[in-house]
Amino acid sequence: MSNAPEFPIAIIGAGFAGIGAAIQLKQAGILSFTMYERAGEIGGTWRDNTYPGCACDVPSHVYSFSFEQNPNWNRAYAPAAEIQQYLLDCVARHRLRPHLRSNTTITAARWDDGAGEWHLDTSTGEAVTARVVISGVGGLVDPAYPDIPGLDRFAGDLFHTARWRHDVPLAGKRVAVVGTGASAIQVVPSIAPAVGRLVVFQRTAPWIMPKRDRVISEHTKQLFARFPGLQTAYRWALFGLSEAMGPIVFLDSPLSKIGERGSLRHLEQSVRDPELRRKLTPHFQFGCKRVLISDDYWPTFERDNVELVTESIREITPAGIVTADGVEHAVDVIVLATGFKLGLANAPFPVTGAGGRTLDDAWRDGAVAYKGMTVSGFPNWFILMGPNTGPGHTSVLVYTEHQIQYALQAIRMMIAEDVKAVEVKREVMDAYNAHLQARMKRTAWNSGCKSWYLNPDGSNHALYPGFASEYCLGVRHFKCDEYHVVPQAPGETASAG
Ligand SMILES: Cc1cc2nc3c(=O)[nH]c(=O)nc-3n(C[C@H](O)[C@H](O)[C@H](O)COP(=O)(O)OP(=O)(O)OC[C@H]3O[C@@H](n4cnc5c(N)ncnc54)[C@H](O)[C@@H]3O)c2cc1C
Repeated sequence: MSNAPEFPIAIIGAGFAGIGAAIQLKQAGILSFTMYERAGEIGGTWRDNTYPGCACDVPSHVYSFSFEQNPNWNRAYAPAAEIQQYLLDCVARHRLRPHLRSNTTITAARWDDGAGEWHLDTSTGEAVTARVVISGVGGLVDPAYPDIPGLDRFAGDLFHTARWRHDVPLAGKRVAVVGTGASAIQVVPSIAPAVGRLVVFQRTAPWIMPKRDRVISEHTKQLFARFPGLQTAYRWALFGLSEAMGPIVFLDSPLSKIGERGSLRHLEQSVRDPELRRKLTPHFQFGCKRVLISDDYWPTFERDNVELVTESIREITPAGIVTADGVEHAVDVIVLATGFKLGLANAPFPVTGAGGRTLDDAWRDGAVAYKGMTVSGFPNWFILMGPNTGPGHTSVLVYTEHQIQYALQAIRMMIAEDVKAVEVKREVMDAYNAHLQARMKRTAWNSGCKSWYLNPDGSNHALYPGFASEYCLGVRHFKCDEYHVVPQAPGETASAG
């Protein structure tokens, strides 16, 4: 394949998605790519989230690349530091550092119709030109700070889980955790034994299923190292299991009762105090918000130094948190476990496509893309983990890997056939999304709760309303007839390859 500088490819972001794309391009013999990363190091989610207890909530053997399987995972659910090390090892093994521009934020992108290329502005002032852009900017990157009056008046230490202050000692302190979502349920049991007093502020009680995390024995690691096929089979089994459980999580159907019953049984086994159990019981349909997994979150509330507050927060004072009942909860440290701004709410930075149309404009009524990857009016732009590609029940990476393969097919075709631009046909994209939103009505996410998955108008542009295997089969082939494929004008060349 070609290493032609005439076919430069820009990968934006060096998290799982960007790194996966870089590995696959390199393995396909396409070396003319550069990975732009706004932070000083690779890793994305797993670089930024270093809070105590942070770990994946999909088994590590599925939450890793199929083409970079790791026989040495130490736990069924690897902690963040181990996942970050895995990504660092991937970058080292595939010698990706020469392709990486860290501390470089892409700040704007403009499509040049005549030349058939993207012009990218960077924070370093470097002007980048790329024939193809692969956007791997992530969906859960920027912390969401709650709009609580007095947030800036607190006299103690206040920080977000995704920006953990390791310089703030918690031992013996009075600590508040605001939020009871995916990060909170990992932080709360991890810090409770060390802090003096822990007050957890809950707006909505989440559905929680048993995690059954465990140490992976040396024997199993050796077996996986010696017989990689065995690990692949195990990976498939884990994936198959998550797919089998999928409809319980994502369908608005009587099946969700199975999940509810399992979770309530788990609650009963975790908490003896009936009043506490009542407060921790969710009041919305199973699956409507993200289903969480934990073995130690619920039991933590039976500790003497832990309190659950279900009154809503009125304000933050210099001394602590005041709830709607007028009680002031005096604390030394406030931890905001309040999640992330959804990366798909708008374009990650100004992106101007064909005819001067911006991505924000195209996404005014919600982010849409064909198969979550390509947008009409934005040629040669491939999004990884774009609109409607998030799973509710399995590993994100299953989707990401297939998206990388799809983009790779297009890139290979463009190089081989001397193609200037590929742009998904508007009617193809619209028909796909109309079908998707129709299916969305039958999902648990649309069963009436308020969640970060939903736009203000109730539409869901975040998640895929089906099985992962179904999505993956659907993106197996890049089909030229679904795209406007623009050849190079005579005399121009796409590549020397
Ligand atoms: C705490 C936490 C736990 C999670 N656990 C799981 C799990 O168990 N299973 C699962 O499937 N998913 C999980 N997720 C979702 C997780 O985000 C994805 O699985 C995956 O890590 C996303 O990888 P990514 O490369 O798409 O995005 P990210 O990891 O977010 O990486 C995006 C990268 O792009 C960079 N970037 C952004 N904008 C720019 C720009 N303009 N210019 C240059 N660089 C830019 C960012 O700095 C970042 O490094 C979790 C998320 C969080 C926050």
